[in-house]
Amino acid sequence: MMMFQPVGGMDRIPYAFEAAIGKDKIIYGAKVQSLNNTSAGVSVDYTNPGGQTKTLQADFAVCTLPPHLAAKIPGNLPADVIDALKFATPSDAGKIGIEYSRRWWEEDHRIYGGITNTNIDLGNMWYPSTGFHGQRGTMVGYYNTGANARIYQALPPQKRLSRALDQGARIHGDVYRKDVAASFSVDWKCTAFSEGAWVGWPSQTDAKYAKLLEPTGNIYFAGDHLSHAIAWQHGAMTSARAAVTALHTRVAAAVAG
Ligand SMILES: Cc1cc2nc3c(=O)[nH]c(=O)nc-3n(C[C@H](O)[C@H](O)[C@H](O)COP(=O)(O)OP(=O)(O)OC[C@H]3O[C@@H](n4cnc5c(N)ncnc54)[C@H](O)[C@@H]3O)c2cc1C
Repeated sequence: MMMFQPVGGMDRIPYAFEAAIGKDKIIYGAKVQSLNNTSAGVSVDYTNPGGQTKTLQADFAVCTLPPHLAAKIPGNLPADVIDALKFATPSDAGKIGIEYSRRWWEEDHRIYGGITNTNIDLGNMWYPSTGFHGQRGTMVGYYNTGANARIYQALPPQKRLSRALDQGARIHGDVYRKDVAASFSVDWKCTAFSEGAWVGWPSQTDAKYAKLLEPTGNIYFAGDHLSHAIAWQHGAMTSARAAVTALHTRVAAAVAG
């Protein structure tokens, strides 16, 4: 399977936005502590990486926090909006990157990128689609969801690797355990500021979901969770466009009087 990926890694996308928008307009590492509608617009308290609390005042805010986390942010969002945010159901997903000092999948098996879909708890294994015949290579030993992800979620990183190697050896044999240089695993439910991979909804035709498509005073909500392409960047962009268009229409109408 052909895999498309940004050259340099996924974070090239936000950094490209940074270059287009201007770094001076972005505050990195700001942890939102409260979110309030005010008579003049909105007020957002946040802590910066130095631990200082700051306040931003603005005409409007677009809240793109995962909904189950936005529900826990103090402020004056009405109870029915908090209820709607809590309607989201965060999902489980995990991945492990296993770095090998020999690209055995290319050298021994002529595997150049692509995925092995398994019916064991690894879910999918992915082979790198760049750096062919380099000295080292990192493959995704598992990319799993749901109950399979929760098996690895419960383990410390070293045991995740051991289990992934045991399971992967069922497919690739003993070569899978050799030449391992390093590993790195992520479980999204255990990751601060995510506490879940993506979210689902019991229903996307329910009044609770619909409530989040409308602004609450001067606060708009956006994110892939408010689209019909959840778990895709396309969904996040579709939702962002909808929120910005609604905001633009509102402000343009107000200016036109
Ligand atoms: C395992 C996995 C694999 C995926 N694979 C793909 C893929 O192959 N292709 C694809 O198109 N999409 C993929 N996605 C989906 C993609 O990552 C999302 O659709 C996209 O990131 C959603 O963007 P967003 O802006 O809505 O939310 P997010 O990117 O989740 O942004 C929400 C932000 O809120 C921040 N936040 C949370 N709490 C606070 C707080 N208190 N204060 C300040 N900030 C806070 C978080 O740090 C985060 O940066 C994948 C997602 C996961 C989890």
